[in-house]
Amino acid sequence: MFDNLSEKLDKALHVLKGHGQITEINVAETLKEVRRALLDADVNFKIAKDFTNSVKEKALGQNVLTTLQPGQLMVKLVKDELTELMGGDAEGINLSGNPSVILMSGLQGSGKTTFSGKLANYLKNKKTKKPLLVACDVYRPAAIDQLHVVGEQIGVEVYSDRDNNDPVAIAKAGIQHARANGHNVVIVDTAGRLAVDEEMMAEISDIHKAVTPEETLFVVDAMTGQDAVNTAKAFNDRLDFDGVILTKLDGDTRGGAAISIKSVVNKPIKFIGTGEKMDAIDVFYPSRMADRILG
Ligand code: GDP
Repeated sequence: MFDNLSEKLDKALHVLKGHGQITEINVAETLKEVRRALLDADVNFKIAKDFTNSVKEKALGQNVLTTLQPGQLMVKLVKDELTELMGGDAEGINLSGNPSVILMSGLQGSGKTTFSGKLANYLKNKKTKKPLLVACDVYRPAAIDQLHVVGEQIGVEVYSDRDNNDPVAIAKAGIQHARANGHNVVIVDTAGRLAVDEEMMAEISDIHKAVTPEETLFVVDAMTGQDAVNTAKAFNDRLDFDGVILTKLDGDTRGGAAISIKSVVNKPIKFIGTGEKMDAIDVFYPSRMADRILG
């Protein structure tokens, strides 16, 4: 994960980690390298610039050059800043409803259906949760089939209605079904499109209004870098979602999406997807991610 970025940051901070005497020039040079590494990882220019400016300010504020181990302090400042940028503390999901409704949104191919299954499996394994998956993609019969396959794989019931082409009605009926059958979590999988369009946004907004979910999650493919951030922004403008799910972090991603998305939409990343299998799901912990990035 983020191998390239880790390598570049390691190289940038190498001088500070090993150098006997650290000067203002070392620090400035290092921060320049850090900024370059972030830009190469597809972090937005302004975010990368603000990042290094903030680290610089903190370094000056703490008189970094006069401390006993200035190199280590600088590394810590970079790590703290990275953690802060990615969201600070880990954020859980709201499961206070009965049933709790979780609405999944995102573009087609982002990994929504796969993640719906992973989340259902994750919650089912918590023992106190009995999830129901609801198939609201009325445009692609294959999407309904896919959710059924996932449901079967993890032993979670799937509610669908192939004769109904109204996703709002299906979502509502799914929640009714959950109530009647003792499901305390309902995960609503919706239709995506290849790009953000008005019809999709209107549909997901209508479902959102009708089912008033405890959690609305936006799923995005981390491989798409700054596009992921732009799509998040477009969805957030219309949907006001609660959290981001970053998928495909097992691939050769550069890291830009993970690093920038929180500060652009001001919504936390809640989970990450790290593979195609149903157990490839992790809670997103900003500080652990920063540790991984900094090696
Ligand atoms: P949807 O159209 O948003 O419902 O997307 P899907 O759930 O169908 O996922 C699209 C493709 O991405 C499928 O081939 C999934 O197996 C794959 N996929 C989903 N999540 C991940 C992930 O975390 N890692 C990898 N490598 N592939 C994933």
